[in-house]
Amino acid sequence: METLLYLIVFVVGLIVGSFLNCVIYRMEKGESFLSGRSYCPHCRHKLGFLDLIPVVSFLFLSGKCRYCRERISLQYPLVELLTGFIFLLIFYFQFSLVQFFFLLAISALLIIVFVYDLKHYLIPDKVVYSAIVLTFIYLIFSTFRLDHLWSALALAGFFLAIVLISREKWMGMGDVKLGFLMGLLLGWPDVIAALFLAVFIGAIIGIGLIIMGKKGMKSEVPFGPFLVTGTFIALFWADELINWYFNFFGYL
Ligand SMILES: [Zn+2]
Repeated sequence: METLLYLIVFVVGLIVGSFLNCVIYRMEKGESFLSGRSYCPHCRHKLGFLDLIPVVSFLFLSGKCRYCRERISLQYPLVELLTGFIFLLIFYFQFSLVQFFFLLAISALLIIVFVYDLKHYLIPDKVVYSAIVLTFIYLIFSTFRLDHLWSALALAGFFLAIVLISREKWMGMGDVKLGFLMGLLLGWPDVIAALFLAVFIGAIIGIGLIIMGKKGMKSEVPFGPFLVTGTFIALFWADELINWYFNFFGYL
């Protein structure tokens, strides 16, 4: 029974991931999310049921469109798997039912931010604002803790200072709004764990890209994907991380 539930949650995650790909594509094209069937971006052939099964269709068609044989972006199966995996984690950590559904919705929005910023160096306002409003509503109807509000203001303020000092070279206004969301969602001190993780992972990947010659020292790397990654890790493991940190380094 337990295994079956995990399987269902994972499959729902794959399906939601497939929907997120569609939302991302339509945001890129400026189309409405709700109207019309999915089609191949290359030949615009309408996709049938067999083309739309998450991950399975991609493997079955060996990553090519059935109609024009053009390559399908790896983004499609990766986002589906990522969403499935994150839904599994949310289920595994046994949040309350309300929290469970809230986190599913928030993680869907965060995954859009992750992919969109990675591809376009842009954090879509609509998505971040939706997530902020949703989090506010959730906090009001659960236990509103003030530390969430001032964590939001603190991180957004900190990012805003970086934006102003660097004249938007190191960070953009999208990161400021995302910072507000992170603080509101995570509260204190989890938000600090998320920020440190984002900087740490960003530094490692940045150095890796420079070593591999993919990016120069001065080239832009979007920070949003790292912030989202840090947020997800903090959402699940902030307590462990903070305990580990203090056990390891003491209370210096
Ligand atoms: Zn096609």
